[in-house]
Amino acid sequence: MADTKYVFSFGAGEADGNASMKNTLGGKGANLAEMTNIGLPVPAGFTINTEVCIHYSDNDGAYPAGVKEQVEEAIKKVEKVMGAEFGSDTNPLLLSCRSGARESMPGMMDTVLNIGLNETSVAGLAKQSGNERFAWDSYRRFIQMYGGVVLDMKPKSKTDPDFFEEILEHVKEEAGIEFDKDLTVEQLKDIVSQFKAVIKKNTGVDFPTDPMEQLWGCIGAVFGSWTNDRAVVYRRQYHIPHNWGTATNVQAMVFGNLGDDCATGVGLTRNCSDGTPGFCGDYLINAQGEDVVAGIRTPKRIEESLSDDMPEAYEQLDQIGKTLEQHYKEVQDIEFTIQRGKVWMLQTRNAKRTGFAAVRIAVDLVNEGLIDPKTALEKRRIPADDLNQLLQPIFDPAAKEAAVKEGQMIAKGINAGPGAATGQIVFHASDAEATWNADNDAQLILVRRETSPEDLRGMKVAKGILTAFGGASSHAALVSRQMGKTCVCGCAALSINYEAGTVTVGDTVLKEGDWISIDGFTGEVFTGKIETSASEVMDVLMGNKKPEESETYGRYAQLMQWADEHRRLKVRANAEAHDAEAAVALGAEGVGLCRTEHMFFDHLDEIREMIFSSNKEDRERSLAKLLPFQRDDFTHLMRTMGERPVTIRLLDPPLHEFLSEEHLHADETLAPKLAKAFNVSEEEVHRRVEELAETNPMLGHRGCRLGIVYPEITAMQTRAIFEAACALKQEGINVHPEVMIPLAGFKTEFDNQAKVVRETAAKVFEEQGVEVEYMVGTMVEVPRAALTADEIAETAEFFSFGTNDLTQTTLGMSRDDYKGFIGEYLENDIIPADPFQTVDQSGVGKLMKIGVEGGRGTRSDLKIGICGEHGGDPKSVFFCNRIGLDYVSCSPRRIPIARLAAAQDAVEG
Ligand code: ADP
Ligand code: MG
Ligand code: MG
Repeated sequence: MADTKYVFSFGAGEADGNASMKNTLGGKGANLAEMTNIGLPVPAGFTINTEVCIHYSDNDGAYPAGVKEQVEEAIKKVEKVMGAEFGSDTNPLLLSCRSGARESMPGMMDTVLNIGLNETSVAGLAKQSGNERFAWDSYRRFIQMYGGVVLDMKPKSKTDPDFFEEILEHVKEEAGIEFDKDLTVEQLKDIVSQFKAVIKKNTGVDFPTDPMEQLWGCIGAVFGSWTNDRAVVYRRQYHIPHNWGTATNVQAMVFGNLGDDCATGVGLTRNCSDGTPGFCGDYLINAQGEDVVAGIRTPKRIEESLSDDMPEAYEQLDQIGKTLEQHYKEVQDIEFTIQRGKVWMLQTRNAKRTGFAAVRIAVDLVNEGLIDPKTALEKRRIPADDLNQLLQPIFDPAAKEAAVKEGQMIAKGINAGPGAATGQIVFHASDAEATWNADNDAQLILVRRETSPEDLRGMKVAKGILTAFGGASSHAALVSRQMGKTCVCGCAALSINYEAGTVTVGDTVLKEGDWISIDGFTGEVFTGKIETSASEVMDVLMGNKKPEESETYGRYAQLMQWADEHRRLKVRANAEAHDAEAAVALGAEGVGLCRTEHMFFDHLDEIREMIFSSNKEDRERSLAKLLPFQRDDFTHLMRTMGERPVTIRLLDPPLHEFLSEEHLHADETLAPKLAKAFNVSEEEVHRRVEELAETNPMLGHRGCRLGIVYPEITAMQTRAIFEAACALKQEGINVHPEVMIPLAGFKTEFDNQAKVVRETAAKVFEEQGVEVEYMVGTMVEVPRAALTADEIAETAEFFSFGTNDLTQTTLGMSRDDYKGFIGEYLENDIIPADPFQTVDQSGVGKLMKIGVEGGRGTRSDLKIGICGEHGGDPKSVFFCNRIGLDYVSCSPRRIPIARLAAAQDAVEG
């Protein structure tokens, strides 16, 4: 197949590819082609496609027939455009070799710059550029990158020697120089010869001088890096298929290190921490490539000083930013180089952003006319989970002010990830992980000079991240944005000593384990703990602040309005009386699960008496005491919810959750109290309480099994519900209670309980002289209920999937006991996601589908919802939308997330 096209040219006004070809050209290559097509300045080059990578991996590093020829052809094109020649001694063309997969894998694969230099061409470059220092600086960078990437001499762990950095540091130290840019030609020449020597010593071969050999070495290293350990682990963690492969981009070099009218930079077309419009980013004058993100020198801010330093370049960049946004309809994350005042584009991609920025940018882009509201709702623009950031607490303003007065504010860095985080200092990611594994409630702030991909797991468990180096595009900032973590980076005032385990600012010395607080909105760093308080959006929702006082709220409300206009799926709350108000404020369209037992915790004496009763009479006596409490609670709940439906689940947990040996132990007055009330000995109390214990409570005497054995409990709860409902109806509130029977697996179980409910309701209606519309339905939370849904729907008027229990019973996996292995399962891809967070679609989900089909086959208008924790998980919400549920129900705080997720699936599903 000599005709297969593997190599795609770009730059110089025309490109073979475009942005839609990410699968074959990778993200970087496809966008280099696209930028060429829309007329932006891109150095000429070509992309070797991902197919070659797969072939290379499968065939021990061999290339498909035709690739070599196509590469040579493409180089000729680049030479023509650039007016230079690859390998020439007098007019050398230099190339970069860059990896680029379909999805970006930050820091996983490598780039080599300045390919084509050797002892003769370096002289040619010096002469041609009139800048000998630049030529030798480029040469030493090339050898260093080639040695690290192609000859594998980069340190792999923190203890490995970094041969090249050591030489560099040594020369700088001898000369008393702080920055690379101040090295002289002589010093650079010395470094080059030392680099070559260390390569020879370590690999046994001479550094290659033939440019073609150099280039193929780099291309092979990029394709080979796809299968290195780090990349494999990364793909596993982010569920990126191994068979995608990476593309390799070869591109003419442009130079940011030719002098003070040159620079290298990275930027965002809008601020991606808070969403503010306007270009922002970092640049370094007279520098090359990744210097700007490496944290060696703290870069300058584009928005602060580029227009003064290089007014023309700033103009070009600003214009490019606008062109990119107009074209991609998205905020872009770009890499560029300024060579003698001219901006060259080296990369663009859709930018990662915080939830804050995501909402602001989406709403702003609609207002600017770039996109319509439906587009603003897209999943990739605002991952629904990220809405959390707008609802999460911030530092309590008074507490923060006090901290400032007390002099606790010790430094200020870049506000890279919004939020407020307070926690104990930890310096190493591995320590953070270990501490968190021992205690999931640990509050940790990871404090580092800078972060790297090895720190990912530690960053994940930390409440916040604080670094001394690196700007708004540093690894720490980027990853924090992705994870939605509070982050302050580039806080240059911090002096961190890993060996001593200290961070010093002026006279303040903080040790590992000391408390520290960081404000990701402002970049401020404080010693000690600072109290947090509700976010601005929550403040408005709860009526503590006027809507017009908060722009953030305004945008949130706008977005939620669009979401509500586009979704079909309704969203309810799992709520009791005390959090019903918040649920309504957050947009609940009803209650999908009121757990009646939660109300019992305030009346433990009465419930314990009820449990302790050994006959119906005693039990009814204590139930009569509970009745008014339950009725009050239901009244409060239903009054708050008004006409919205309220699903109340009858008593569900095993009774020993309220009364067990442990309780008797913890409260010494308890046994004597019960002994007295029931006129029995304390030994008898202990004996009866012991009897309540179960070996496997999850599968024990709970759910409707309680009501079947003790129908008087069901009757009391039903009475409380309907006495409350009738009273409210008489007040003129048209309430809609839905009584839900838990854990039924047999139609007969449901019928048994439904009969008690209906008879009791009828009795109450007669007593009160008023009737209330209501339904009786069941929870579907054991496989048998889903499998026999057609039968159960004959009498049940609604279904609600209790996916917590349905997951436990379908997987035979206890939520309380899966901690020991779930980590291993997820890490090794045995299951794709935590089944208690995201519905296991092919297993539990299949049962849900059977339940829906069975139920609706019998009763076509059967109302079906979900009330497990999954109801607030975006992926599970998408699934519920797709299988035709009527609503999802989740904890109040997750309601906005579920509303957005429901809209997203409606728009894109
Ligand atoms: P990564 O995917 O890690 O960002 P890149 O391939 O984008 O790696 O390369 C990193 C940096 O190297 C770029 O941001 C740019 O500064 C520099 N670079 C790459 N190719 C060139 C080139 N042809 N000319 C100048 N600089 C380049
Ligand atoms: Mg890049
Ligand atoms: Mg349950």
